[in-house]
Amino acid sequence: MRTPQPSSPVSRRVFLGQLVVAAALVLAPRRGRALEPLPQTKKLGVALVGLGGYSTHQLGPALRATRHCRLTGVVTGSREKGVKWAHNYGFPERNVFSYDTMERMAGNPDIDIVYVVTPNLLHAGHCIAAAKAGKHVICEKPMATSVADCDAMIAACRAAGVRLTVGYRLHYEPHHAEFARLAREKVIGPFLRMSGANGFEMNSSATAKTAWRLDKRLAGGGPLMDMGVYVIQAACMAKVEEAPVAVTAQFGPVTRPKVFSEVEESITWTMEFAGGAVANCRATYGEQVSNFRAEADHGWAQFEDPAFYYAEPMLTTSRGPVNLPKVNHQVAQLDGMAMELLDGRPSLAPGEMGRRDIAIAEAIYAAAKSSRRVEVQA
Ligand code: NDP
Repeated sequence: MRTPQPSSPVSRRVFLGQLVVAAALVLAPRRGRALEPLPQTKKLGVALVGLGGYSTHQLGPALRATRHCRLTGVVTGSREKGVKWAHNYGFPERNVFSYDTMERMAGNPDIDIVYVVTPNLLHAGHCIAAAKAGKHVICEKPMATSVADCDAMIAACRAAGVRLTVGYRLHYEPHHAEFARLAREKVIGPFLRMSGANGFEMNSSATAKTAWRLDKRLAGGGPLMDMGVYVIQAACMAKVEEAPVAVTAQFGPVTRPKVFSEVEESITWTMEFAGGAVANCRATYGEQVSNFRAEADHGWAQFEDPAFYYAEPMLTTSRGPVNLPKVNHQVAQLDGMAMELLDGRPSLAPGEMGRRDIAIAEAIYAAAKSSRRVEVQA
């Protein structure tokens, strides 16, 4: 039976906060010790970089519901849009920055975290600018379009003494966190065979959102970089964050060659893990699909479609359905990451994990282009 949800916004907000605290406590031992909470004097201030679809429809609204952080600034190419956001969200107009003036955030006490939500190629530059301004960084997935950029981002954040995390919201979602626990504690046994797919049907009409996703330079690739990272993430989660040793891959099928002249329309790949576990995966802009299954010798766990979208995931195992409360993914992620910072705990989604996934994606592209098995240098 699913846990009843509180109905009033206030009680729901408190309830969601409690859920995140509970999830964080369950997850804390995974990557380091749990610390006593620091006395919390304020909500952490977050500045969103890039006011497109994800910021407008998910992250901005989520920052109204978070308990441990709030929206205190924006970075945008449109001053007019930024000023509207300042009025809507109640932060001062002086906290509206352009991409060229991000260094002015240095010393601004309103902003603790800069959340990069621009097209993939631009993540590295915006992340490095934020680090130089002395701000912690959350960078949207995929972390960058090359491992070299990931290395530069990690180095810049280290040099500045700030934290770099990747916007991998599912680590903070209770069903996916439970899946990670099942894998980590080998509840069903070590997962040996995984399969998963993630995609949507890309509308070919030229919206701004479509345009950069079809531009190989800005996107870094097609559905592998956009939707496939979720399948890579799930397969690595099933293997307790181990990277695969090698991959094989094929592009296709191609049904709209004119639309997908720069990036792939679809791609399938296999990840081989040390010890013989294998994940068969697919990412596509050709159809709506989102599923994942992991099998052990004596049991299995499966996310029904949609496994990776914003909806509440349905996780079933060979032992029965897993019933956990529904959360807003972005609220859970933002509060989870804010609490990690406030508590001084390691992040569940550090920059190094984002780099690992880009190394895997680079190997997958190399394998698809060469039709050869490629070893992963993660
Ligand atoms: P959009 O195209 O909707 O928005 C991108 C925004 O980036 C633009 O509105 C613009 O904001 C800014 N921008 C700066 N330079 C450019 C440029 N050269 N071309 C286009 N936009 C530019 O993209 P999304 O919001 O959907 O995606 C942004 C990032 O978030 C991507 O990395 C994507 O993978 C990730 N994402 C993650 C999701 C998740 O579930 N974790 C879901 C959706 C996206 P402005 O006008 O303010 O300058």
